Amino acid sequence: MSNTERTLILGAGQAGGQAAVSLRQFGYAGEIYLVGEETAPPYQRPPLSKAYLKGDLARERLFIKPEAFYADQDIAFQGDKRAEQIDPEQKSVAFNDGSTLDYTNLIIATGSRPRPLPIKGADLTNVLDLRTLADVDALRPLVKEGTKAVIIGAGYIGLEAAAVMTSLGVDVTVLELADRVLARVTFPIMSEFYQKLHERHGVHFMLSTSLMEISGTGSVDGVILDDGEKLDADLVLVGIGILPNQELADEAGIDCENGIMVNEDAMTSMPNVYAIGDCAHRPLVHYGREGRLESVHNAIEQGKIAAAHICGKPRPPVDVPWFWSDQYDTKLQIAGLSQGADTVVTRGEPESGHFAVFYFRDNALIAVDAMNSPPEFLTAKKLIATGAKVSPEEVEDLSVSMKDIMKRATA
Ligand code: FAD
Repeated sequence: MSNTERTLILGAGQAGGQAAVSLRQFGYAGEIYLVGEETAPPYQRPPLSKAYLKGDLARERLFIKPEAFYADQDIAFQGDKRAEQIDPEQKSVAFNDGSTLDYTNLIIATGSRPRPLPIKGADLTNVLDLRTLADVDALRPLVKEGTKAVIIGAGYIGLEAAAVMTSLGVDVTVLELADRVLARVTFPIMSEFYQKLHERHGVHFMLSTSLMEISGTGSVDGVILDDGEKLDADLVLVGIGILPNQELADEAGIDCENGIMVNEDAMTSMPNVYAIGDCAHRPLVHYGREGRLESVHNAIEQGKIAAAHICGKPRPPVDVPWFWSDQYDTKLQIAGLSQGADTVVTRGEPESGHFAVFYFRDNALIAVDAMNSPPEFLTAKKLIATGAKVSPEEVEDLSVSMKDIMKRATA
């Protein structure tokens, strides 16, 4: 290897792309290699289950930067190239095309992959995931009037896809193992709101339902439930969660546990090796614990953090985790992590379509789900970030504005 310092980024997604951009912004003078398994340069995934699936967003608008940007910034983007093995002794990575690249610093940004559905028929044609541009390219031609779709899993991606498909005339049935939608990620009040919203648009739900197999010859023709009932389907979309792509790190001897373990600077247990984005298991500083986050905010934040550390810059600010979901004409904005809440109060009426659910633990605000309510989202995010005291009674009281709640809490 030459004497030039080199940062090698594995995975050219939201986090990897951000790390490359931030390295140059922070004045990194060494070589940057951004190597990804997908052909496309880094792009945003959120529109894949929203505006892009619907046909309302041009493909070029998905890209985080135009392809020319990488060459302009002297970032060597190499697509269609999969990292197969990290050799931490030699500080090099081997790729599926037989090549190797040495590194001074390595950033693992390999994201996550859809959790596979372990049943017969899952490999039939038109049984699809929704993770990549290629997945949407396979899905979009089927999203039309008259198609019968079964969506397996009522998480955010499944529900967002259900909203788009239904509005384009697809007959959608959502199957869910749990007894309510979004059971893994939110509380019953939000589940109930979303189920009703979708039902008003014609989506059918089958909750507490498990599948025996997917049927068809070559291509899917239906799904068979545990009780033997068959539902016809031209298309099955599987959205049952994701698994972190941690195997490269694990096999190299880096500590992993539901993701690649990192510290506040995104450093792994291996010197000069960082992990960022969906694949990283990170400290959650506002919550005094660790966890893996699956969001754009997290990918961007950690991309900046790793780049800053490599460049010897101060750690960029760590924000409260946040996320959003667009379904039909609703916008949900989530600040914080609601898991473990012991008190849940609602501001506004869900029937009105504008409301926010505030989550408390040990008398402290830990999260908000704000439905079509940006002031509630923004204020709660600041309150959580500062640890300012606010009570459930205060946020429930619609006669007090969020601005006044903020003023009082921070006075
Ligand atoms: P990714 O963006 O997945 O990038 C990882 C890249 O690494 C991939 O291109 C992958 O092919 C590549 N890779 C993997 N293994 C290797 C290897 N061995 N060698 C080389 N390359 C490899 N978040 C929100 O905050 N709001 C939303 O509304 C939202 N909607 C979403 C909708 C969809 C359909 C999806 C799929 C995700 C959504 N997310 C949303 C989540 C968000 O997009 C992810 O959290 C984010 O993309 C994570 O970034 P990442 O860089 O860690 O992973």
